[in-house]
Amino acid sequence: MNRSLRGTYALIDLKRYLNNLNIARKLSKSYITPVIKANGYGHGAIELARFTLEHSDIRIFCVATFEEGVKLRYGIGESAEIIVLGFVDEYFFNEVITNNLLINIYDDEIAFRFNKYLEKKRLKYPVSIKIDTGMNRLGFDVSINFIEFREKYPNLVPKVLMSHLSSPDSDLDYTSLQIDRFSSVAERAKKIFPYIKTSLFNSPALLSFENSFDYSRPGILTYGFVKSDHDIGIKPVMKIFSKIIHVKSLDKNESVGYNRTYITGKKTILGVLPIGYADGYNRLLSNRGFVYVDGYKCPIVGRICMDMTMIDISDLPEGKWGKEVEILGDNIRADEMAKMCNTISYEILTSISPRIPRIYEGMNG
Ligand SMILES: *Cc1c(COP(=O)(O)O)cnc(C)c1O
Repeated sequence: MNRSLRGTYALIDLKRYLNNLNIARKLSKSYITPVIKANGYGHGAIELARFTLEHSDIRIFCVATFEEGVKLRYGIGESAEIIVLGFVDEYFFNEVITNNLLINIYDDEIAFRFNKYLEKKRLKYPVSIKIDTGMNRLGFDVSINFIEFREKYPNLVPKVLMSHLSSPDSDLDYTSLQIDRFSSVAERAKKIFPYIKTSLFNSPALLSFENSFDYSRPGILTYGFVKSDHDIGIKPVMKIFSKIIHVKSLDKNESVGYNRTYITGKKTILGVLPIGYADGYNRLLSNRGFVYVDGYKCPIVGRICMDMTMIDISDLPEGKWGKEVEILGDNIRADEMAKMCNTISYEILTSISPRIPRIYEGMNG
């Protein structure tokens, strides 16, 4: 297989993504607005969005930043609504409008500034209102008065009301409290803004709670990961492959790589892979992680370098040079890799650097 000039590439399975979206939707029992921030958790936001638009009736996507919103708008045209979940500098309000982005208004400072800007332009413009129900990050207090909001900010047209859950996979009581708080805010909001759409659930919430809001915002689940005690049918969308670009025979008691952190305990056949920490291959996997070659589990030996990694391929039969190597995929899942790195699957996926080319599978039929 010659998938990239460099020998290392990520394979993005679009059909799996679509299948995961459908599972998210069934769990949600509502419309879903997939979260494709951070370049679609590293999978490629534009490609995911285009495929989704072509193969489903999903017409709203969430991103985190203004720049992600603009890039997505360029990538998909006017075919969908784009919600920017995070902060947008007032410097870019004009581009928010020209790019038709829906931004989150999460406090009076932003509301005042955006309203003032719109007033000058003699425009009314749709927005999303963000409420803080207990995450203690962004959002208006739950005591927000919507009549006052309408009076103070007549140029903002609230279209979406959202809040974010802090612990749906770890603290069910607290999550219930957040859901209750949001329900009552939502009820009050709908009296003043009858057409407002409510949105609360993220991926883990969909597994443990019944969604009763208009939209949900699944992210990680759509990429194939979520903490669950049973199989819900989702599959990892990204696989990463590399290949053995050099084979070397070492004697007993030889060292491998920087700072000699690995010493061979026996005669060893070493394979070199063209992937390193600059590709997002976490250095904490040094002397700890493993890869798969032809069904053989091969340990990473020595420190992962910036551009290369060494593995022990002593167990492999002859013909090792050029062999394809699974770095991440169905055998080595991002959530397992995350445990070894003391982090979460989200960080493993979003760390895969742009240096690794993404190849899309399922594009044509
Ligand atoms: C990232 C994010 C999500 C998606 O969270 P997942 O746990 O990946 O499903 C939803 N809402 C907001 C506000 C987010 O920042």
